[in-house]
Amino acid sequence: MQFDYDDQNIFAKILRGEIPNSTVFESEHALAFHDIQPQAQVHVLVIPKGPYVSLDHFARDASAEEQAGFMAAVAEVCRITGVVDGFRAIANTRTHGVQDVPHFHLHIIGGQQLGRMLP
Ligand code: C5P
Repeated sequence: MQFDYDDQNIFAKILRGEIPNSTVFESEHALAFHDIQPQAQVHVLVIPKGPYVSLDHFARDASAEEQAGFMAAVAEVCRITGVVDGFRAIANTRTHGVQDVPHFHLHIIGGQQLGRMLP
């Protein structure tokens, strides 16, 4: 599988500071910010700072340090947003997964009771 990263995607521009974002947490390896079109009371996107197109790209090619840094950021987002009663984590992935922005991102959605999700 060949992953071709487009450095003009909107999250790459956010990481370069070319587009503003509402930051929740930032570390060496990850950035988390509020989704501009929230689907629930809590809707945060966690993205790695490295150039990974999708979850499967990140899982295959990111270093153990990058992956650990990303998961630590997820934990921080959960702590900061206070989603103590649970949440949904979604990684829409490429064409069949209806991924709009081609930079890997994990949606953390919660802060309220969610409905069941079907395709
Ligand atoms: O998973 P998918 O690629 O479809 O989701 C992209 C998400 O990025 C959308 O929920 C959209 O609202 C969000 N977005 C954002 N800030 C931008 C552009 C998109 O939060 N500047």
